[in-house]
Amino acid sequence: MSEIRVRIAPSPTGDPHVGTAYITLFNYAFAKKNGGKLILRIEDTDEVRSKESSEEQIMTSLKWLGLQWDEGPDCGGEYGPYKQSERKHIHRQHADKLLDIGAAYRCFCSSKRLAELRAKQKEQGLKTKYDGKCRSLGDAELEKLLSSRKSYVVRMKVPKEGVSKFHDVIRGDIEIENDLLDDQILLKSDGFPTYHLANVVDDHLMKITHVIRAEEWVNSTPKHVILYDAFGWEKPQFVHLPLLRNADRSKISKRKNPISLNYYRKRGILPKALVNFLGLMGWSYSAEKEIFSVEEMIEKFDLRQIHLGGPIFDLKKLTWMNHHYVQKMDEDEFADYVREEMFSREHLKHIHQVLFERLETLDQFVEKGFYFFSPPPIVSMEEVCPPTRQPEEVKAMLNSLLEHLDVLYVWEMVHIQEIIDKHRTQIDWKPKEYLPVLRLILTGRKDSPPLSKTIEIMGREISRQRIRDWIT
Ligand code: GLU
Repeated sequence: MSEIRVRIAPSPTGDPHVGTAYITLFNYAFAKKNGGKLILRIEDTDEVRSKESSEEQIMTSLKWLGLQWDEGPDCGGEYGPYKQSERKHIHRQHADKLLDIGAAYRCFCSSKRLAELRAKQKEQGLKTKYDGKCRSLGDAELEKLLSSRKSYVVRMKVPKEGVSKFHDVIRGDIEIENDLLDDQILLKSDGFPTYHLANVVDDHLMKITHVIRAEEWVNSTPKHVILYDAFGWEKPQFVHLPLLRNADRSKISKRKNPISLNYYRKRGILPKALVNFLGLMGWSYSAEKEIFSVEEMIEKFDLRQIHLGGPIFDLKKLTWMNHHYVQKMDEDEFADYVREEMFSREHLKHIHQVLFERLETLDQFVEKGFYFFSPPPIVSMEEVCPPTRQPEEVKAMLNSLLEHLDVLYVWEMVHIQEIIDKHRTQIDWKPKEYLPVLRLILTGRKDSPPLSKTIEIMGREISRQRIRDWIT
């Protein structure tokens, strides 16, 4: 049998997600178990949403967890480049090939027409999909449109009849009527590929044997299968892992659970504990043994044992597990961990900037800056709510502030300040109403150093999560 090659293909569009760590762990365990290779491919074809910092954080977080890949943008490999944005020319060549063999077509429809089409279909209670207007343009018409330089996208020509099917290692045979599939866009008008084209082409060229990814991609796979067939390529095996869920069984979301790996790292969750915990999401070592190392997981790992009942990401359980691993640390490990992760020189230097003027003796640093290290005691709504406002307004104000902060990735004082000012003016609150609310929730104190600087130092994860925790 040829070498097992699996990949993780994160899109660097936000915080490094626990879901990415989960998928990586299962790919890693499968690769190691079978003497195969794990490939990291960064899927950054969404130019607007992709961020270099997010890409770096994904890599740092996965390394922190000890989930090291064998080929990737940082370490190279035989099948690079490993960043999709550096492979655009390859994707374009493949779109051309599909055009040549009649498996794809150019679509010149304007976004206005498409919006009208969608609105009409919605109005009639129909599934929204492209109506195929450009599917069979005559040669002369096509020539004319091309010479007029009208912009176009390349769409996949999904067969109108029949079914597309594939076999999922844990879900069995899955099939869908082609009629239900949309003529998916493969290449956008700016020449960038969409996920579907880039993903299939790169998986093939990188010789991926097993595509192990999250459940949310199940519905895309029939389209991918059509592409494999059109190119005449052998298909990899497909495995769609069950989605992580919040306690109420909804898909894991930051509204109900911290999802950023940075958050867990900042809170002193140990990588071994998180990996062990993620290893229990849809898989188990045995009925008796919940605590196991990644090496033990690898030894027993079998994809066919994955069960599909949605695994619950239960913070209490993770904390319990972490407690177990903390107890196992020896004094050196403990001292090193706390110094490097919590009291790093970098962090202390930042805190110095805001606290040094307030200290008479240095030991006051612990008391005056405690909120930089651990959550303040919960303050009640009564204490927080300004006399001029209602409790619901306080909650609404914090919720809308979170929406702004969630999309702020450059976590620096000036930007935080800008957001706070803009938001406050937008909702028409006075500084003396607004600022104490935030200060109390974040620091548990009525006085603190300048708020935006405090928020900057506290960090993106911790400050947002403290607000979120307070609201819920
Ligand atoms: N870029 C996709 C993601 O971020 C990859 C999905 C896949 O593994 O095919 O989830």
